Amino acid sequence: MINLRLAPGSGDRSRLAIRAAMIAAAAAVLLVVSAYAVTRVIGGSDATTTPTAQSDNGQATSPTHPAPSVAPPTSGDTWLISAPQPRAVPAVPSPAAGAGGSGGVYGGPFGTQRRTGGSYAALTFDDGPDPRWTPQVLDLLRTYDVRATFCVLGRAVEAHPELVRAIVDDGHTLCNHSWDHDMTLGQRPRDEIRRDLRRTTAAIQAAAPGAPVSYYRQPGGVWTGRVVEVAAELGMTSVHWDVDPRDWSLPGVDAIVAEVTAQTRPGSIVLLHDGDGDRLDGSSDRQQTVDALARILPELTGRLRLDALPP
Ligand SMILES: [Zn+2]
Repeated sequence: MINLRLAPGSGDRSRLAIRAAMIAAAAAVLLVVSAYAVTRVIGGSDATTTPTAQSDNGQATSPTHPAPSVAPPTSGDTWLISAPQPRAVPAVPSPAAGAGGSGGVYGGPFGTQRRTGGSYAALTFDDGPDPRWTPQVLDLLRTYDVRATFCVLGRAVEAHPELVRAIVDDGHTLCNHSWDHDMTLGQRPRDEIRRDLRRTTAAIQAAAPGAPVSYYRQPGGVWTGRVVEVAAELGMTSVHWDVDPRDWSLPGVDAIVAEVTAQTRPGSIVLLHDGDGDRLDGSSDRQQTVDALARILPELTGRLRLDALPP
């Protein structure tokens, strides 16, 4: 303790005053430390946060895009979480507050949506539209009277606008999946991200005037806080998934069916692919996904409601 010489008679009061001053000083130190932590976290989404890397298809080794400079997916959809996510710090309110934490609607990486929030499950189809597979998917969905959500690539939309119109005409909803499936997009400067997302949405709306584009999904699931923020600025909810049969890896129709039917429950968001991702050489094959879908739809519609994410 600090020894101070005090005037006689004023001892108790002075000691009280000193104690109060010390408590105030300690509180001030705590405030400064908390403010620093908050600044780190908020700033971190822009500058210091390393994204989680998760493959939503097999492009990590694609020759058309260099591997991301951050840790690339090493084994399928293994998550390489190398930095704390904003939600880990309780002092910072997250978009998921009140939504059920990590198991909730916004329990995906960086507060992305991973559950529908309703009793229905949602099928999502990424990397199209593609004339080889999208029409087959649309036929199956029509047969089972199911609406789904298509996460389309700008360059595929530009090449096949008639398929976007077919998607919208059947009552499905749309999601922006970037222009050309650049898995490093989330680490680029904000204005580059904004330009890419805007260009993609503009192509979608040129193909299907008036169709809302309310969702964004980051290629490869390589989310960053920055890309989630830019998507939000542009009016889009960032949507992840909670069921991933890794159909892009061509595990076989039986494996895709088994995974989806075992894991899908009310509220699930299921990740499937009706297009190529960044394999511009057309080497990928989504026929497994189409064939699996023909078996998945009767099973799922027999026990729960399937619907699109709302427009
Ligand atoms: Zn994709």
